[in-house]
Amino acid sequence: MRRVKGCLNENCPEYQKTKYKEADEYCVKCGSELGYICKQKGCYKPIPDDKHMAYCPTHEGARKDRADRAKDTAVKIGGMAVAVGVFAVTTGKELVVSFVKKK
Ligand SMILES: [Zn+2]
Ligand SMILES: [Zn+2]
Repeated sequence: MRRVKGCLNENCPEYQKTKYKEADEYCVKCGSELGYICKQKGCYKPIPDDKHMAYCPTHEGARKDRADRAKDTAVKIGGMAVAVGVFAVTTGKELVVSFVKKK
């Protein structure tokens, strides 16, 4: 997963404002070395380099929850489809595919 970086200099105008690409190393405004930050919109929590995570623990957890819920729903749709018939099976499959794509 791609990660994002941010300026960690509190006195910099880009601090908690601009997200840099992973390939960027220094802030264009203050020249400070960039650090990894949470990818979640509006969240700029720094992430230690050795964590190899794109999101802070809070948002990483939230994302896992969502993925689990999507899986549950897909399983329920699958079960329902078998009971209702071929048309429903097709619809169920499409829904499952859209869940997978969203990841
Ligand atoms: Zn800066
Ligand atoms: Zn976050």
